[in-house]
Amino acid sequence: MVQPDAPFGVVLAAVAPVFRRIAPVTLALAFVLQAAPAGRQAQEPWSVDLAEIRHAAGLVPGPRPVRLHVRKFAESRRTKNFSVRGAPADPSVQARTAFQVVFPDSYVMVDAGMDRDVHRFFGRGADEPYDDAAAAEVQRAVNGARLIVVTHEHGDHVAGVVRGATAAKLAAKTVLTRTQVDVLRTRPQMPEIRLTAAAARRFIVVDYDRLLPVAPGIVLVKAAGHTPGSQLVYVALESGREYLLIGDTAWHMDGVRLVRGKDAPWVTEDEAAVLAQLRWLHDLARTAPQLQIVASHDEEQHTELARRGMLSNRLEIR
Ligand SMILES: [Zn+2]
Repeated sequence: MVQPDAPFGVVLAAVAPVFRRIAPVTLALAFVLQAAPAGRQAQEPWSVDLAEIRHAAGLVPGPRPVRLHVRKFAESRRTKNFSVRGAPADPSVQARTAFQVVFPDSYVMVDAGMDRDVHRFFGRGADEPYDDAAAAEVQRAVNGARLIVVTHEHGDHVAGVVRGATAAKLAAKTVLTRTQVDVLRTRPQMPEIRLTAAAARRFIVVDYDRLLPVAPGIVLVKAAGHTPGSQLVYVALESGREYLLIGDTAWHMDGVRLVRGKDAPWVTEDEAAVLAQLRWLHDLARTAPQLQIVASHDEEQHTELARRGMLSNRLEIR
């Protein structure tokens, strides 16, 4: 019997035998309609629980980090309408950055910078600012890191560990997700960052469902959307201060404030997933105001956080 609350497809399937001799086309239609709700059920909107993230942050024993730094090493000039759908075409700077989570005895790098050749790709013909000294500083910090993770598999975040003379050595202390490796192997953003099978094997490759604690106070949060391998990086300092590094989920924090995605024809995102993430981040800013959400490329936000003493544009090289 068909239950009163059965999905429409189930109802159709139940009555379908009646039509069997009348119209095979109807049967086919019933099958299609029946399949549709199941597909929708499988695609639940992206969501994650901050309480679970905080719990996971306490699972790896040891002292928590004490400081967070960001280092800007290059710029892209993009008017704001590309970063935030519907925004006016005002001039805007996309800072190319890497983050450093400093522990008492070592540090973790979040993102690994990029060399000038990869930077050129992002200029799409224009010659955009690249600070050689700052980029070299990022590379030195990456070389000296205890552990490296990346927010996603795009060149401006990952090139520092997949190209260059020290790449093979860096891979042994770099955690990439299975998805990030798969994308870098089979459909990299640019040919320069394609991983060979041999190079891919050198990395520490992980697969996880929702959360992965990687160090005291640091949790990776799966957030496919901007790219298939995108993840957020939660950081809780010893002082109790909390950050959520959201990579490129939003290029500008107005995307979070207004819950609006990008409008950049050159990126292919899972727009529904990104919107669900923006909505979650938007709510988080209200329900957990002590947690500081940080976008990788939002120059205005980094300047404001530096002014408030929450983030400094420097690296501690050890
Ligand atoms: Zn980026």
